[in-house]
Amino acid sequence: MNTFFLEFRDPLFGIIIFFVLIFVITFFSYWFAKFKKKEDYRHLDKFLKQFHTLPSQNELKVLITKGELSEKSWLLLASAYAKNGNYEKSIEIYSELLKVGDKSNYRDTLFLLGKTYFKAGFLERARQIFLEILKNNPRTPQALNYLLLVYEQMRDYSAALEVLEVISELKKEITVESAYINSLLILNDSLMSSDEKVNKLLEIYKKSSHLTYLIFEYIFRVNPKAAWENIDISKAELLVDVLWRCDKKDLNFDIIMQNGYLRELYTAKGYIKEATKSSIFELDVLINLDSKVNATLGFEYICTSCKTAYPFAFSRCSGCHAIDTSMVELSLVKDYHKDFSEENNSFQ
Ligand SMILES: [Zn+2]
Repeated sequence: MNTFFLEFRDPLFGIIIFFVLIFVITFFSYWFAKFKKKEDYRHLDKFLKQFHTLPSQNELKVLITKGELSEKSWLLLASAYAKNGNYEKSIEIYSELLKVGDKSNYRDTLFLLGKTYFKAGFLERARQIFLEILKNNPRTPQALNYLLLVYEQMRDYSAALEVLEVISELKKEITVESAYINSLLILNDSLMSSDEKVNKLLEIYKKSSHLTYLIFEYIFRVNPKAAWENIDISKAELLVDVLWRCDKKDLNFDIIMQNGYLRELYTAKGYIKEATKSSIFELDVLINLDSKVNATLGFEYICTSCKTAYPFAFSRCSGCHAIDTSMVELSLVKDYHKDFSEENNSFQ
């Protein structure tokens, strides 16, 4: 019977105890490491969670009042929120800073708040903020410029012209701005006839020789004859998309035949055969394809001031607010219109 049990002094007993100890230690250290890892993840998750949720308005109020962060840090944070499109948080920070912040920065913070309201599309609030700045400091050009933009977007062009007058008193050049606002005033006048609008727009164009696109895009739409009679052909490239889409019956071939660029453009379009090549790549390809492939011109509009590209034409860049800085970039695209008309013809 005793042969089944090991003696206490048996060396084998010591070896077994040794291995049992090793097993117990390994087992506990393995589970302890696993538990520690889990705890670390939990801590990290908890830490990262703070950044997924934005502080509420009340939390912000407490944080700003505590004064643990400098006003400059809060301004940087507000500007970062606005850049990411989170205008609501940016507005909350500026509003709280106006209540508790340094009074020497009050006007600057108020201006930043007005700018954010404008970007977020709260035009009436932006207007009130800029008017408040101008009430105490009437010669603040930045606030005047933004107030002009606000009135322009509100389509209150008469008020915009009044702001322009104040800006001109600060010895600022306003020729283009004035021509632009006056053109918008005419284009949006529901009581004026289209002939009257054409005459008034041409008057503005002759005086300023700016806004070729804004003015001639409208005239080509309502009175192509007048457009051809008054167009400055040297600026035809600015209107390439308008000219390209112009109906064949509305074209003035006497003028087209006298100008190399227009001959190339309308040969590429397939209306005439007066050019064999072009220095402009897209036109050259279309001339050589000779309407055998479903290809046409595509247009993209680039602001020459800030280099932002837009898929649509513009007169005032929404990025840098510069006027008349649009440049048309050409590209070759598939002609879906041709596809569509061929499909329709096949049913006849
Ligand atoms: Zn721009």
